[in-house]
Amino acid sequence: MTSVYLDYNGSAPLDPRVAEVMVPILKEGIGNASSAHRFGRRQSATIDEAREHVGAMVGGRASNVVFTAGATESNNLALRGAVEGAAVDRPRILISAVEHASIRQTARWLHEHGLTELGVIPVTKGGFVDLDALESMIDADVLLVSVMAANSETGILNPMEMIAERAHSVGALLHCDATQSAGRLPFELERIGADLVSLSSHKICGPTGIGALVGTRHGLRRLRPIIHGGGHERGLRSGSLNVAGIAGFGAAARIAIEERTSESARVAKARDRLTSALKSRLPAVHEVGDIARRLPNTANIRFEGADAEAVVTNMDPVAVSTGSACGSGSIEPSEVLLAMGISRESAFESVRFSLGRFTTIEDVDLAVESAVAAVEHVRGMARRSA
Ligand code: PMP
Repeated sequence: MTSVYLDYNGSAPLDPRVAEVMVPILKEGIGNASSAHRFGRRQSATIDEAREHVGAMVGGRASNVVFTAGATESNNLALRGAVEGAAVDRPRILISAVEHASIRQTARWLHEHGLTELGVIPVTKGGFVDLDALESMIDADVLLVSVMAANSETGILNPMEMIAERAHSVGALLHCDATQSAGRLPFELERIGADLVSLSSHKICGPTGIGALVGTRHGLRRLRPIIHGGGHERGLRSGSLNVAGIAGFGAAARIAIEERTSESARVAKARDRLTSALKSRLPAVHEVGDIARRLPNTANIRFEGADAEAVVTNMDPVAVSTGSACGSGSIEPSEVLLAMGISRESAFESVRFSLGRFTTIEDVDLAVESAVAAVEHVRGMARRSA
């Protein structure tokens, strides 16, 4: 049976062109990039080149790229680094209700340890930050506002410029987790007004385990490191650099810059073919969130009366995902969907399809057949047991 991979938001496949850049470095790239000898200097030159591409992907300067082990670490560094680095008395941070766990858990941890107060900005039914609510929560006590550019489960995009404007009106920093959007859509850090931006390589067909926090000089200067040691990466992230990973991330960023416009148009067409086929073949199919402002590759679809976990299992070898998470032995519905005002029952019926660079029309058509069969089967089982 042909397998189909439609879980790009979970992790995108490595682009073979990226692998081609990485393999010689893995095989022959000797030395620590901090060493002064010729081996070290060569490693360092490789990193410099990658830094240019990763910075350029979000309109940032190479010198303002801090490589990390992924967006989880970047998010930890942004929040904890800002709270611990706060020079002025600003006791509160704000995060949106639909942030990735690495933002939500870090913010909770900081709050529970008495290091900051925490405000959670609600989202609208459409899934984006409620600007009126933000307006009522923001004041000169706020140190940092953290809002994601695009949500991984729904693909919904946030109005980042407006959020930045409000954050800056009170002198707060804006951190943006752009993990799902950079590389798919244009992102200009300075134009948007983001002071700090989190990125991850494996969402843009680069290797896993490498990411970055890109900032303005102003944003980065406000941080304290969370990993201490030899003072690498402007003193913000110690540890010998992962040269092959960084080179792969750089190559992935370079390809994304070149191809994101054409790729997004092609992928959006494939995604729309998928959603319209599902809607025409099955009754009671709903797209989640405001689909007019969404990533081109993502569709979060609710199949009424069909448990999403069962649908996903029955769709194998077509790989899609649900937003529910296993917590202490029981399955919990997606916090993102609940924050959008969706009921627990409906949240358990939502399936995420996320497409990307290597998705073909044949993949889409196979996925439609598989989803239709799975949903009909699961709905039939539910009716029989009712
Ligand atoms: N932020 C968002 C929005 C994500 O989707 C993810 C990955 N699921 C992360 C952060 C974490 O990225 P990483 O896997 O690089 O730690």
